[in-house]
Order: sequence, then structure tokens, then C-alpha cells
Amino acid sequence: MVKIALDAGHGINTPGKRSPDDEREWSFNNNVLLACATALQQYEGVQILRLDDPTGKTDVPLKTRTDKANKWGADALVSIHHNALTGKWHSGGGAET
Ligand SMILES: [Zn+2]
Repeated sequence: MVKIALDAGHGINTPGKRSPDDEREWSFNNNVLLACATALQQYEGVQILRLDDPTGKTDVPLKTRTDKANKWGADALVSIHHNALTGKWHSGGGAET
């Protein structure tokens, strides 16, 4: 059994975590998390635990999330983010791990 813990980074109202058009980072992160969870659930022997508040209303502190993942015995913790960089739209892309 492989245990994968996921979180969508911040809460929906966490200050500063939004696009130049005021779209919240949590919204981007949550969509990626849901797609990841759906894809991972296609595999046998994979368990998924969501560490953040799935409504986004509460910004669960990092230590709380990591403690929960460790207590559960997670093999991996993936905290999903979309970086704002300069706070302005730009042509940056790619993944950061
Ligand atoms: Zn973030």
C-alpha cells in the first residue's frame, strides 16, 4: 500500500495568494488536487489523504498538515501551489518541485 497525502496549499482567503485578477491560488491548487486524486484513485494499492480544508475556508498551518501526514504514515506529501512570482501576469511556466 502506498500512502499519498495531498493538500491545496493555502486557504481561499489567505492574504496575497491570488492572481493579478484576484483569482485565489487555492482555486487553482484545488483543481489540480482533485485531478491528481482522481488519477491516483485509478491505481490499486494507493491510499490518499487530503490534509487541508477541502472547502478552502480554513488555512490549515503547514505543521498541522505535516503532523497529520506523519501520523498517518504517508509515503509522500504533495503540497500543490501556483507561484505568483511578481504579482503580475507573465509568460513563466513549468513545474517546481
Ligand atoms: Zn502557494
